[in-house]
Amino acid sequence: MELLNTLVDKGLRRELPTREEALAVLATSDDELLDVVAAAGKVRRQWFGRRVKLNYLVNLKSGLCPEDCSYCSQRLGSKAEILKYTWLKPDDASKAAAAGVAGGAKRVCLVASGRGPTDKDVDRVSETISAIKEQNEGVEVCACLGLLSDGQAGRLREAGADAYNHNLNTSEATYGDICTTHDFSDRVSTVQQAQAAGMSACSGLIAGMGESDADLVDVVFALRELDPDSVPVNFLIPFEGTPLAKEWNLTPQRAMRILAMVRFVCPDIEVRLAGGREVHLRSLQPLALHLVNSIFLGDYLTSEGQAGKDDLAMIADAGFEVEGTDTTTLPEHRRPDCGGAAACDADDAEDDAADLAATVAAPSDDTRRDLVSVRRRGAGTELPPNA
Ligand code: SF4
Repeated sequence: MELLNTLVDKGLRRELPTREEALAVLATSDDELLDVVAAAGKVRRQWFGRRVKLNYLVNLKSGLCPEDCSYCSQRLGSKAEILKYTWLKPDDASKAAAAGVAGGAKRVCLVASGRGPTDKDVDRVSETISAIKEQNEGVEVCACLGLLSDGQAGRLREAGADAYNHNLNTSEATYGDICTTHDFSDRVSTVQQAQAAGMSACSGLIAGMGESDADLVDVVFALRELDPDSVPVNFLIPFEGTPLAKEWNLTPQRAMRILAMVRFVCPDIEVRLAGGREVHLRSLQPLALHLVNSIFLGDYLTSEGQAGKDDLAMIADAGFEVEGTDTTTLPEHRRPDCGGAAACDADDAEDDAADLAATVAAPSDDTRRDLVSVRRRGAGTELPPNA
């Protein structure tokens, strides 16, 4: 397909596709899926080889949020029967993080429910970051604490936070449909504060909330404009007890096309396959590794993922390798100490044909509520974490 040749050329040159090209990827047919994956896979391998970065979530504070994000099981008025607990002690959070690191994670993501942290919360998280860094040499720590107030980003950076996550989630035009207690610009502002404080910005989206193709392209282009270092792509987990419980809009093939579109728009950015991969990609998960270069290991904030050992086996079976702490995730031209875009030899393009070993599952739009499993182990429980 001419479209795919153009997108590969652009991806290898780190050139932004047009909106029309991004929309055309989402409009490709299931018959064209392997061609789309092969094309986006070339771009992925150019910038990230066959490496997969593992990230490990620690939910520091779960549930009881005053905000009303309709996709979230922790939202105001959520009837989802999730774990609810207040701040984990730094030692307990560190133990949970250590399990993830032992399982192969190079980044630990410390997440807390709520609109944003108080200054006392920032103190608490700072202590947790110190405890984790003392016990896990070389680990990257990302904080995800909601909207930041003046000065908080700088304090987190000083405490050792390497990165800050705050997702844009959906397009600016539809943001008001999924949340009324804060707006799109609040989210953009927090990402910019994190960047200004010297933290690596992580910001992504949630697909499957009933949005249009144009909304998906809009949010990915908005992310690209913010220029984060990592972009998590979540697929909505329609929790019973939340307003979006009936939104089962994704097929595995649609989820793959969304990941491919994100890769073309963000060729040299860490694209992370995040929440919902087991539920929506199902047996296509290994094929998605040809598009993304990063995943979460084990469980999510309020739901359980597949066993951590199955994540590792999937990576090895698909012919990929877990990225070690001695390897820098981003290509050289995107690193803070690099001379910039000119330092990149973008002509050094890989042109090998994709060698896809995975098999495409039969299309299905069945809802798979049986795959949604509320987290009952790890942080906030007596049971060992899944890592
Ligand atoms: S602010 Fe965060 S924890 Fe609270 S409802 Fe929104 S996404 Fe969920």
